[in-house]
Amino acid sequence: MKNQSTENSSTKSRTIREIVTAIATREGAGFAVRRPFPTKSLSLVDPFLLLDHMEPVTLAPGAAKGAPDHPHRGFETVTYMLEGHFVHKDSAGNSGVIGPGDVQWMTAGQGVVHSEMPDEELLENGGRLHGFQIWVNLPAKEKMMAPRYQDIPSANIPIYESEDGKVWVKVIAGKSMDKEAVIDTRTPITFLHVKLQPGASLSQPIPPQYNTFAYIVEGKGCFGNEGLAAETDQLVLFENDAENVFLQASENEPLSVLILGGMPLSEPVARYGPFVMNTQNEIVQALKDYQSGRMGAIN
Ligand code: FE
Repeated sequence: MKNQSTENSSTKSRTIREIVTAIATREGAGFAVRRPFPTKSLSLVDPFLLLDHMEPVTLAPGAAKGAPDHPHRGFETVTYMLEGHFVHKDSAGNSGVIGPGDVQWMTAGQGVVHSEMPDEELLENGGRLHGFQIWVNLPAKEKMMAPRYQDIPSANIPIYESEDGKVWVKVIAGKSMDKEAVIDTRTPITFLHVKLQPGASLSQPIPPQYNTFAYIVEGKGCFGNEGLAAETDQLVLFENDAENVFLQASENEPLSVLILGGMPLSEPVARYGPFVMNTQNEIVQALKDYQSGRMGAIN
C-alpha cells in the first residue's frame, strides 16, 4: 500500500538516523512520563525541544497529579490528550479544559504563568489518563511575542481515513493527503497522529529539510527505507535524505504513531527549566522577570 503518490516520483524513503527508547521520569507535581528527549543521548530535534508521553494509566481516587503554577518563556507548549481531562489556567486570564482528542497549542512568547491540572472528576474519582506534551522552539525574533492560545477541540481537527479503513491520520499541524490543519504554527511544522491497522502502511511526504521523527504510542512496526523494527515508547529519528516517511504496522496488531516534522531553526539554544532562549543572558533576564512578577500570576 505504499501508494500515497506525491509530485516527487522518487520511491526512496528517508533512512533512519537513530532509534531512541524513551526513559521513565516524573514531571510537574510528580506524574509519570516517558521521555524520548531531552535525554543524555538526544538533547533535541530542532525545532522540537521536548516530548513527554503521559502513558495510559488508570489512576486511583486522589492519585492524579498535575503541574501547578509555573512559568514558560521563549517557546510553545503543545498538549494533545487521548484520555482524561486537564484543566489549564494562566496569568493572562485564560482557562479551559483539554479532553480526549483535543489539542492546546500555547505560544508562551515573552512569558506566561500557567497551571495544568487534572479535572476535579479525575482528581476525586480517579480514572484514565493518557496524553502528550511537546515543546516547540520559537525563532529568536519571536521569543518575546505576546502569548497566544489555540484551543482546538477534537471535532475541529481534520482526519483522513482511507476507503478501506486501514489508514487513519489526524492532521494536527501541516498537511496529509487532502487534509490541512486548522492550527497555525509560527514556523513550518507537521504534526500527525497516524493509526494503521495490522499490515497497513503509509508513505507520508514531509519536506526533506524538516527534521522528522516518529514516536510509537502503541504497537509495533517497521520504519524508514530500511524497514527497521520499532515499538511502543521508541522514537525513530529520520535522516533528511528523502521526502517520504515510510511506516508499516506489524501483521498482528495495529500501530499508533505520532509523526512530527519541523523546519530547523538552526539557532543557539540556551535552556533552563521552563525557559528556552538563545543566550545565557536572556535566561538570567527571564528568571529576573519571573521572580519580579513580570510574567504575571494566576488569580
Ligand atoms: Fe507548562
